[in-house]
Amino acid sequence: MKFPDRLPIPDEVLKIAQRLEEAGYETWCVGGAIRDNLLGVENHDFDLTTAAPPEDVRRLFKRTVPVGIEHGTVAVLDRDNRAHEVTTFRRDIRTDGRHAVVEFGVSLTDDLARRDFTINAIAYHPIRHEWRDPFKGAEDLAKKLIRSVGDANWRFQEDYLRILRALRFSARFEFRIHGATLEAAKANAQGLSQLSAERVREEWFKGIRTAGRVSKLLALWIDVGAARIWLPEIPGNGKGERGKVDKLPRDPVLVTAFLASDPASLLTRLKSSNKDIERARAIGEWRDTYPDPRHLPEVRKWLSQAGEYADDLLALLPGLDLSRFPIPVSRLPKVVESIRAAQDPLTLKDLAVTGDDLIAAGVRPGPEVGETLARLLADVLEDPTHNTRERLLARV
Ligand code: ATP
Ligand code: MG
Repeated sequence: MKFPDRLPIPDEVLKIAQRLEEAGYETWCVGGAIRDNLLGVENHDFDLTTAAPPEDVRRLFKRTVPVGIEHGTVAVLDRDNRAHEVTTFRRDIRTDGRHAVVEFGVSLTDDLARRDFTINAIAYHPIRHEWRDPFKGAEDLAKKLIRSVGDANWRFQEDYLRILRALRFSARFEFRIHGATLEAAKANAQGLSQLSAERVREEWFKGIRTAGRVSKLLALWIDVGAARIWLPEIPGNGKGERGKVDKLPRDPVLVTAFLASDPASLLTRLKSSNKDIERARAIGEWRDTYPDPRHLPEVRKWLSQAGEYADDLLALLPGLDLSRFPIPVSRLPKVVESIRAAQDPLTLKDLAVTGDDLIAAGVRPGPEVGETLARLLADVLEDPTHNTRERLLARV
């Protein structure tokens, strides 16, 4: 791959680089945006790497946020409050598979050497339009290869997350993982258990959002041994069913719930939010019980009970083997649409009477009110035309 003469660097990024260079600090663009632009993929999120120590970066700009100051990363805010990450040239001097102790005052080449993959270790000078690619990342881009910078074994042992990053980039760009890198990933998979659940979750979710095909990402997680450790609820066999995952929307919680036998337990391990865990649990509990689309009251009852999760259950349909249902489930989305368009009452709030109305009509305050409302709702789910004040009060 030949380097283009120039890359289109956003103005605000260029200004930051100019400021640092005028202060005497060498500054380069690096990382994902360089890689993506070389691949012809849009990405304006250029990271800068600089010889300036973090204190000087903070001194040179009015508005900065020390987002990762111990690693030398400072976010510089532009006029529109957009953050641009500026990281001081650094080298990792000590690592334990999860964290690094870093040293500043090193060269650009040292900084590129501590980056994970050759395709992520290319630098471009936004003012002089020069390229630095000591690890031949451009060649690997052309060959569609994910390859560790340096010895893959060491690099994975420094930070096991890199194994998952390799899988994510491979699935995203449909690149092969270089032989030695893949072998080292498998050999070091056990180290993944040391990672924090939050970092693993972020990788898994980001992988789902960005993969060319999610089935490919999953196959890699299984092949390398990452799924066995972090996603044991996803069966390692049954490839046919898994292939259908590619038909789902790129919603990480939905996709995970689709794949896992016990989605809530998986997301609990990944320390997901309670909201996501509850959502996954609901999807897991409801995914085998769709209503018969030919029977409107049944569909209304299902909508009423599934509540906020009904759309997830509908979104799941393209991934399911519908022939295993004895009813024409594929018609369900259309039927739901028509029920919603008709604004049929589906919840207690939609009823034409309130608890107070019932009390005024003589129902004893207390549990009886709720029970009566539930009975009225069951009736209007059966027939929405019953949802008038007179009719409901007459029934009470
Ligand atoms: P994307 O943002 O699309 O996920 P990216 O390559 O920009 O991809 P970031 O996590 O934003 O990934 O990191 C920016 C750069 O920092 C990477 O390109 C890589 O050079 C370096 N980097 C990030 N994480 C690691 C890591 N765990 N080990 C080594 N280098 C890393
Ligand atoms: Mg990035």
